[in-house]
Amino acid sequence: MTGSVRTRFAPAPSGLLHLGNARTAVLNWLFSRREDGEFLLRFDDTDTARVDAAYIAKAERDLSWLGLEWHTRHLQSERSAIYAAAIERLKASGHLYPCYETADELAARRASLVRSGQPPVYDRAALRLTADERRSLESHGRQPHWRLKLGDGALAWDDLIRGPCSFEPAAIGDPVVVREDGTPLYILASVVDDVDLAITHVIRGEDHVANTPVQIALFGALQAAVPLFGHHSLIVDDAGQRLSKRAGAQALAGLRDDGLEPRAVLAWLARVGTADTVAADMGPAEMAATLDFARFSRAPVHVDHAALDHANRQILSALPYADARPRLESMGVSGGEAFWLAVRPNLSRLADARLWWRVVSDVMPPAPGVSPEDADYLAMAAGLLPETLDGGAFDAWTRAIGQQSGRKGRALYGPLRLALTGRKDGPELRLLLSFLGSQRARRRLLGETA
Ligand code: GLU
Repeated sequence: MTGSVRTRFAPAPSGLLHLGNARTAVLNWLFSRREDGEFLLRFDDTDTARVDAAYIAKAERDLSWLGLEWHTRHLQSERSAIYAAAIERLKASGHLYPCYETADELAARRASLVRSGQPPVYDRAALRLTADERRSLESHGRQPHWRLKLGDGALAWDDLIRGPCSFEPAAIGDPVVVREDGTPLYILASVVDDVDLAITHVIRGEDHVANTPVQIALFGALQAAVPLFGHHSLIVDDAGQRLSKRAGAQALAGLRDDGLEPRAVLAWLARVGTADTVAADMGPAEMAATLDFARFSRAPVHVDHAALDHANRQILSALPYADARPRLESMGVSGGEAFWLAVRPNLSRLADARLWWRVVSDVMPPAPGVSPEDADYLAMAAGLLPETLDGGAFDAWTRAIGQQSGRKGRALYGPLRLALTGRKDGPELRLLLSFLGSQRARRRLLGETA
């Protein structure tokens, strides 16, 4: 299939993209890369009640931040002529039929079916209307909506993630696909787009499984090849609820503001729901090459901030100086590569490098934390501090402290670290000290905050 694969991500711009949407985008993008194909972006922006065009630019910004690139971009709102032509074809070929029931009439009919224990599917009453009856309804101002007439055979597909799936048309009932105003519903517009844009694989959330049999019927009615479908499980929050675009929950923009590296988010999204993880140095090409839908579980996936943080730390601890440099410089961190290599294993966010730079460059004096009982010990350590701290000087210094005080391990290093950095943990003390310099170190050991 090399070269011919086309996938798409088709969000409705009704809110900020969240991790769940992003996962769909990432899987489509990686899959198209794996197959040397193309990834398209389509905005399902026809539902004017829910859509806000400002979210289109925001979605593009968020996807770009994540590192995704798309071949072409399409707006459903600009494609109405294509839908109109398809609707005419479907009417002409007898696949659509006009229906005149009001929403209230349909609701009443459904309720009575449910009461009598039958599935609440449409009874095809409109198919029994005569031409005269239709004319009379229309002359009384009733505009028809249009249903797709489903065939008798099972609507089945072999899902890339869920395996064989099959639905009986009788259990679905003929769906409405065109509104009274002549515009298509999502279920039809999406198929017309997928045909027109030659989409070969539709990878999306399992909330769309119920749409798939109808869409398969629509591809057939349009005499088009049916793409392959893959429905992944949904990402849920701590309470087990689906993420909502309207609530802005777990939005990519929020993760960006929180300082997460896009590659950490990408790495998590690429493999969450499988037993696999992505190594810190794995780039998108390798993530794509090793993507395997057979490894995806059908269970819902929980948002896992600890896993995102872990991925972030891993990425930072392997981030080359060349990549970090412009960002460090823009934060005023000027310690060069040596400083970056010293602090990167200890960063939860890249911006934490600035904190450590302040600690060693004395812009921010360390927080007081030296206990009075350690004061003598630290004064002794200050007395032993050599003038220069390169080479083996640090080891020689701490050895001498150990000999004089009888301390070792945490008892030896803990008070030193606290006095020198104001913190209990952090990058290797020996490395920090080389940036701190002997004079400043001495002052801090003596409790002088200047
Ligand atoms: N606009 C739909 C959604 O966001 C697209 C579904 C599809 O991929 O077909 O859920």
